[in-house]
Amino acid sequence: HDVNHLLGVVEETLSEERRQRQVIKEMLQKYQHLAHHDTLTGLPNRSLFADRLQQMLAQAKRSTTLGALLYLDLDKFKPINDTLGHDMGDLVLKEIASRLHTAVRESDTIARIGGDEFVVLLPAIESKQDASTVAEKIRLALEQPFEIKSHSINIGCSIGIAVYPEHGIDEIGLMKNADTAMYHAKKNGRNNVQMYHQGMDP
Ligand code: GH3
Ligand code: MG
Repeated sequence: HDVNHLLGVVEETLSEERRQRQVIKEMLQKYQHLAHHDTLTGLPNRSLFADRLQQMLAQAKRSTTLGALLYLDLDKFKPINDTLGHDMGDLVLKEIASRLHTAVRESDTIARIGGDEFVVLLPAIESKQDASTVAEKIRLALEQPFEIKSHSINIGCSIGIAVYPEHGIDEIGLMKNADTAMYHAKKNGRNNVQMYHQGMDP
């Protein structure tokens, strides 16, 4: 009788420990997710994007394929906040995140790295043209009006492209040149895509 009681106590203690381990594991997973994602859109944040960019470069170095970095900044986003309010601006950002998903493949990374700045990584593309095609698809997807709370909101975006290895062989070089190309898209009247080329002034 005493032994049975003792066994019962041991089993209960063990299952309580298992339960606690599970709780801790879930807390860690939640924390990991919070640390690597943007809370508004759920997209990977700058930190996870940096990891993915490193992965893309490592993969591209091992193979003969190219990798592209698309740097996207929304056009005249501030006036949306100013006229419709910050909450509407937030809803537009969420909608933008889901439209971006529809324009790229599952294996591509979309991240939000700033207020109205997004980046898209295209690993293993065959040609520079592939990157331009995807960027154009994204531009067209975002150009369609957003119907939110009985408002029809028009927003465009400017996209800069840098392709590994031609436009940069490391994270810093690629980011800098994609950003330069994006800046040229802004200067070019916004709502357009620019591919970096050597000699493009920063
Ligand atoms: P441009 O075409 O030159 O890019 O003009 P812009 O108005 O988009 O200006 P810019 O990119 O410099 O500024 C981005 C604006 O995005 C600034 C801020 O009002 C807004 N913003 C940044 N983060 C958030 C956010 O989390 N929520 C909302 N609603 N707005 C944000
Ligand atoms: Mg902007």
